[in-house]
Amino acid sequence: MKKSDMTDVIADAARLLKESKKTIALTGAGVSTESGIPDFRSRDGLWSRYDPMEYGTLGAFKRDPEKIWTMLAELMTLVDARPNEGHRAMAKLEELGMLAGIITQNIDSLHQKGGSKKVVEYHGSFDSFTCMQCACSYPLADVRKPDLPPHCSSCHGILKPDIVFFDEQIPPSALSESRDLIHQADLLIVAGTSCQVVPAATIPATVLAQGGKIIEINREPVLNTHAEVILEGSFSQLMSQLVTALHSTQ
Ligand SMILES: [Zn+2]
Repeated sequence: MKKSDMTDVIADAARLLKESKKTIALTGAGVSTESGIPDFRSRDGLWSRYDPMEYGTLGAFKRDPEKIWTMLAELMTLVDARPNEGHRAMAKLEELGMLAGIITQNIDSLHQKGGSKKVVEYHGSFDSFTCMQCACSYPLADVRKPDLPPHCSSCHGILKPDIVFFDEQIPPSALSESRDLIHQADLLIVAGTSCQVVPAATIPATVLAQGGKIIEINREPVLNTHAEVILEGSFSQLMSQLVTALHSTQ
């Protein structure tokens, strides 16, 4: 796409944002790759080296937590990642009153680190940990390397990060918060996700069914004609350009 064409498409997206009464966002792994977090499902990603059925289930964790912590210790390096310009631009949208909230499939807390306030995490995060024996809760600050796997200070049980494993349900609180966000949303920004994992996969159809529109930001767009505007390329660049365009197209 020529640069001038892309400017037109950004202007279209900015116009949709201005016309919208309630905009929400749905994000996935693609918004974090520019923060140095590879997509776990990519060719060299985490799940190419650790079989998700062997390492990614609560059942496996309960059977052999020390083994699962070899994978978790690697996964946990994402807590050191920094938000990119796209995360910051999304936070700016919320600050401007133009984004009601974000539903994310990511577990890296980068939206919050980038300044976003309303973030629903379908798959939890490494912000807190729970003792599998006594259910005590610990903040991330209490669980730092090199003391992995971390143990409960009262009963010495092994701690599990509050992320959602493959055989676990999405937390009911996250589901009800996301329903509130989706309710009456008339514009959805889909960014960095191929919308294949349920229930996130159902959100675009839900917004369309209630008469809403979609802006898609992906390196490899998937929504085709379902999206009113498709921004193909870098999340950080395109989100930043979109926020800049809001100021110039009054
Ligand atoms: Zn305990």
